[in-house]
Amino acid sequence: MKDNNCIFCKIAQGEVPSVVIYEDDKFKVILDMGPAAKGHALILPKEHAKNIYELSEETTAEAFVLAKKMAEKMTKALSCDGFNIVQNNEPAAGQTVFHFHIHLIPRFEGDDAKVGWNTHEITKEEMEAIAEQIKG
Ligand code: 5GP
Ligand code: ZN
Repeated sequence: MKDNNCIFCKIAQGEVPSVVIYEDDKFKVILDMGPAAKGHALILPKEHAKNIYELSEETTAEAFVLAKKMAEKMTKALSCDGFNIVQNNEPAAGQTVFHFHIHLIPRFEGDDAKVGWNTHEITKEEMEAIAEQIKG
């Protein structure tokens, strides 16, 4: 359940302090210490899982429902213009803390937060080959 070397386990258990904006028996939602924009927060399950590949389906479902609820509450409270929900898995995808978390990032017109990717050209044949690879 708890990984003694995991900073987010320590935060979720209250052993390391954090600024909490929501808590229930399964989750803690805290402000990110390096915010991309005002109100940037993290949903932390109290159950330790490295990332989405290890998190139970039940907790995954609850985490994303909580993300929707938090997005609605934070949008009203902060009067933001938009909202990014981001979830990174493994270093190749930008994960730096290896305890599943969902980023809640309120967005304001003209802010300097960056959530995005470069786009590339692709043929219809390439798209179809990828679809076959995924569908199996
Ligand atoms: P990742 O890159 O793994 O998706 O995101 C990790 C996030 O956790 C980063 O946005 C980083 O600022 C935040 N973070 C890392 N350590 C701490 C901490 O001790 N306290 C808080 N509040 N945020 C943290
Ligand atoms: Zn952990």
